[in-house]
Amino acid sequence: MNDGRVTSSNIRKINRNRVYRMIYQEGTTSKFQLVQLLEMGLSTVSYNLTALSAEGLIRFEGFFESTGGRRANQIQIDPVARIAIGIGILSDRMHYVASDLYGHMIYKNTYPVSYEHDPDYYRKIGDYLQQFITDNGIDSTRILGVAIATQGIVSRDGCSVNYGTLMRNFHMTLDDIRPYIPFPCRMEHDSKAAGNLALWNHQDIRNGVLFLLNQNMGSAVIANRIVQWGDHMRSGLIEHTCMHPDGPLCYCGKRGCLDTYCSAERLEKESGMDVPSFFATLRETNAPELRRIWLDFLNNLAFVIRNLSVTLDGVFILSGYLATYITKEDTALLLDMVNALTPWPLTEDQLRVGHSGQYTPALGAALHYISAFIDSV
Ligand SMILES: [Zn+2]
Repeated sequence: MNDGRVTSSNIRKINRNRVYRMIYQEGTTSKFQLVQLLEMGLSTVSYNLTALSAEGLIRFEGFFESTGGRRANQIQIDPVARIAIGIGILSDRMHYVASDLYGHMIYKNTYPVSYEHDPDYYRKIGDYLQQFITDNGIDSTRILGVAIATQGIVSRDGCSVNYGTLMRNFHMTLDDIRPYIPFPCRMEHDSKAAGNLALWNHQDIRNGVLFLLNQNMGSAVIANRIVQWGDHMRSGLIEHTCMHPDGPLCYCGKRGCLDTYCSAERLEKESGMDVPSFFATLRETNAPELRRIWLDFLNNLAFVIRNLSVTLDGVFILSGYLATYITKEDTALLLDMVNALTPWPLTEDQLRVGHSGQYTPALGAALHYISAFIDSV
């Protein structure tokens, strides 16, 4: 937006962006409030409001209560003036979401399809995208881009998968998918996308660790409000923390990784039930065996949180598929488990639970286009 030189054109762009951002941030505001909040001249504010409105980016809807004079127009951004699409690719399904400019998931769909490194599969990503757009009546001229979140370590440039043992997608590149996506597109590691969603939803988070509790576990490390990539894109692979060197075999080839103890796959294997049945039965009957399985899960998570808490002083976020089944009692119990182990107890607000469920990575990935658009207005 700004190349650093102070030119009148740059100043115009900066002013326009400040006006738009202030409306965005305030939710609902008035011309007079904008003049005050931005300490900007009335004519500059008016000029930018007219321009933003002509482009359909803001709307004047309703009036504030009169304080004596003429009632002031309420001004808001149009949250669906632009939309970003996120796709979460898993080995047996694809999750599609549409995000508005506030990062709210306005549409979502899941399509069952098994991953294969094959042009037919990549064509299906585009076919389902078209179906998703049509089914939800999305105006495709508003689509900023399509972000694809996938399991596996994605290269720094977002163009290829560097490590894809879990889904066996180690040959997948953006070039395989791009021909079928008629929009700008990019690829992102699913757990790093989930980390970005947590930052978006929790503006107070500075440092923390996110656990993406899906069929397999993912994780992300956040430092100074940035999801850490590391030198080889391998920061935050906490799911491969070794719990027991002689534990169960992990898909990474080593034994006893956290993933083998704290994943939906583990719950399903141990209980012989799928996740919805496991939690429904656990909550209904409190059957001792299911209770033991769930307490083991929480205890293992507590052990890792305890150890991480002395490396990274911040919050711990439980997100993804299993997070939607976690109750307040569970988080209280987990906090007690952590605090029984650590010399520096965590406070309640250091444990957060995400609410986007299995759509977490897709929504987190879509935010890339949303924040780029807001910066560019
Ligand atoms: Zn492992």
